[in-house]
Amino acid sequence: MTFQGNGPLDTSDVSSGGGGGGMGRGMMIGGGGIGTVVIGLIIYFLTGSTGGVPQQASPGGGAGGAVSQADQQMDQHIKSCTIELANTDTACRIVATTNSLNKVWPTVLKGYRPPKGGTKIMPTGAQSINTACGVASADTGPFYCPRDEVAVFQIDFMDRVIKRMGGSNAPFSQEYIVAHEFGHHVQNLIGTIGKAQAGVGAQSGSVRVELQADCFAGVWAAHADKGQGAMLKPLNQQEISSAITTAQAIGDDTIQRNAGRNPNPESFSHGTSAQRVKWFSQGYQTGDYQQCNTFVGTV
Ligand SMILES: [Zn+2]
Repeated sequence: MTFQGNGPLDTSDVSSGGGGGGMGRGMMIGGGGIGTVVIGLIIYFLTGSTGGVPQQASPGGGAGGAVSQADQQMDQHIKSCTIELANTDTACRIVATTNSLNKVWPTVLKGYRPPKGGTKIMPTGAQSINTACGVASADTGPFYCPRDEVAVFQIDFMDRVIKRMGGSNAPFSQEYIVAHEFGHHVQNLIGTIGKAQAGVGAQSGSVRVELQADCFAGVWAAHADKGQGAMLKPLNQQEISSAITTAQAIGDDTIQRNAGRNPNPESFSHGTSAQRVKWFSQGYQTGDYQQCNTFVGTV
């Protein structure tokens, strides 16, 4: 239970994606062929486990009818979301977090505007999604595409995959994941997102951009439960810990170790577990996005 109050949510900029309907179809899969589409270099993942690796879309055309139904169902589900449901249902939680982010950020950052492409939720069973950055398979995990300003989340990732990775699927942890991708949107608005082009490695531009997105997620959390009209109930330590658990699980070193490899800092793209926790906490403790300058000194 993290949201408070009751009533409907603004679902106008959240829709189902990748289930065969909507924007993805046609462009990405065509007549049932395999869309071997390379994700553009500028796409921002939650983790480095698949990030930057060109994705091959799964064949999906044949399943179009069935999957399209999944999209319709998800869209209907999204429209039925209320604040109460956001406390029990993952899709509605993503909707409510989107609402909260779009409410909090304008108070923190002058000139903030919601992502033009909105939030896309991939239903379980959806195989891939098309964005202006290319086609991403469902196992890509959450990401943000700056070209069409779309933030994408998979129900399966939020509920199950993150837990398998050693993270938490508790409500606030899921909200942190949404806030991280919106952190990339903020970067898109203020111009720091382009710094990700500066290679990989422990102190690379990529790592610095990812850590700043974590910090921005913390900034959102610092404000989301305060003031009149706050959508979140006051956060408790347990809830914050769930986000920290996830931040730890998706650190480059932890992911590599869990894959049976020795962590190789030369290949880091998102930051270590310790760095991710540090920068999320920095944002949460200061509530000031200007304290999220990950581009100076050693991160
Ligand atoms: Zn990211």
